[in-house]
Amino acid sequence: MIPFAQAAADAAYIVAALLFILSLAGLSKHETSRRGVAFGIAGMVIALAATVGLTAASGWQLPQGSLGLTLMAVAVLVGAAIGLWRARVVEMTGMPELIALLHSFVGLAAVLVGWNGHLGGDHLSGALRDIHHAEVFIGVFIGGVTFTGSIVAFLKLSARISSKPLMLPAKNTLNVLALVAFLALTVWYVVAPDLGLLIAVTVLSLLLGWHLVASIGGGDMPVVVSMLNSYSGWAAAAAGFLLNNDLLIVTGALVGSSGAYLSYIMCKAMNRSFLSVIAGGFGIAAPTGGDEAQGEHREIDAASVAELLTSARSVVITPGYGMAVAQAQYPVAELTERLRARGVEVRFGIHPVAGRLPGHMNVLLAEAKVPYDIVLEMDEINDDLAETDVVLVIGANDTVNPAAAEDPGSPIAGMPVLRVWEAANVVVFKRSMASGYAGVPNPLFFRENAQMLFGDAKVRVEDILRAL
Ligand code: NDP
Repeated sequence: MIPFAQAAADAAYIVAALLFILSLAGLSKHETSRRGVAFGIAGMVIALAATVGLTAASGWQLPQGSLGLTLMAVAVLVGAAIGLWRARVVEMTGMPELIALLHSFVGLAAVLVGWNGHLGGDHLSGALRDIHHAEVFIGVFIGGVTFTGSIVAFLKLSARISSKPLMLPAKNTLNVLALVAFLALTVWYVVAPDLGLLIAVTVLSLLLGWHLVASIGGGDMPVVVSMLNSYSGWAAAAAGFLLNNDLLIVTGALVGSSGAYLSYIMCKAMNRSFLSVIAGGFGIAAPTGGDEAQGEHREIDAASVAELLTSARSVVITPGYGMAVAQAQYPVAELTERLRARGVEVRFGIHPVAGRLPGHMNVLLAEAKVPYDIVLEMDEINDDLAETDVVLVIGANDTVNPAAAEDPGSPIAGMPVLRVWEAANVVVFKRSMASGYAGVPNPLFFRENAQMLFGDAKVRVEDILRAL
């Protein structure tokens, strides 16, 4: 019975792994993303059914088997109920912090699996025993870093703590020392697997995860989120080695490598050093820019914006996080349609890290049925901005901040931004003069060609529609 169940589970795992690969391939394009999600769901159902089937087949033979199976069933039911409830109620703007929280669970699971590997004892000898101990130690370390790193990311993304970077005096030295200590402890543990060493590496990894993410400023958080995604994959792969589960190893490696590649792409898009960001801002000097942007700003009302728009030939809309908060994508789509019907050329300029998730703005605009062909990436639109009559900055801030291009002392210096200030007229939709996510003042608001339209973005776009 058990060899048959094992063989069936192995076959199911291969099918599930293939479905996960197809899922990733599907998710790489708008047109195929629904299919990608369907492959992912199918793979997960098969993987779960195979694991439950295998556990049931072997569980009944053991003295405590039925208790273990009952506990597993309860855990699956409770977990599925909480997952369904959260997925139904989460707002699109709450997705990044939910994802960060879910990554922390993977990290915690890897720590617990590692501890279980230690406490359960081992019946191995020679090199296999050493490998087992290294797996326990490395799994706990990666899991611990992922766990607290993700918790800090969750707290920063949900604005429960400040998004400003924590600047401990010797932060780089502390990180390097933690890594050296981890290597030394690993060797020691492999030679003499003592509980004290396991406690030490657990505490070390929890502190390091906290410090690495706390040291990174708001502007670099997108990279941190995808990096923690990658870490959670490696943590799952480490748990897979300990549990002897091939599917967990394959899936963990898929998540780990695709997350690492995404982090690399985002670093390139933001002109950041990949190694520096994953090392907790290694080599990044403390910003020297002032905290206050100076000058007089001008205000405009919705009726005047409507006039400006009807006399324009070309309009570019650069949306940001505020559009997501206000759920303004629907009136924005209607405004686009109405202006295009009047013969105005309307296009969108999307910054790679606008919003709080990679692709956040694209998802919202697609939801509101804005045609894909007028939604352009930052590099495709930036050179056209100087010839644009009106730019509408709807709830964007950091992604249109001229300080990134002009002030070398700014915390976001060097990050490519949408050069909206080059247009003839810029209208900024926001509720106040507050800074964006990175906490950096925005000199755009005081430029001569810029005017502020204060209020909730959705309400203001609806006002413009009425005035049109
Ligand atoms: P920002 O977060 O810089 O700014 C958003 C602006 O929207 C705020 O200044 C806010 O001003 C305004 N706003 C908020 N609510 C409303 C509303 N209801 N109506 C009108 N305006 C509103 O947005 P960006 O998209 O420009 O930049 C994204 C930032 O998030 C970057 O710093 C990026 O690094 C970071 N980030 C991005 C992630 C990603 O993967 N995309 C992940 C994590 C972080 P006010 O309060 O005055 O209204």
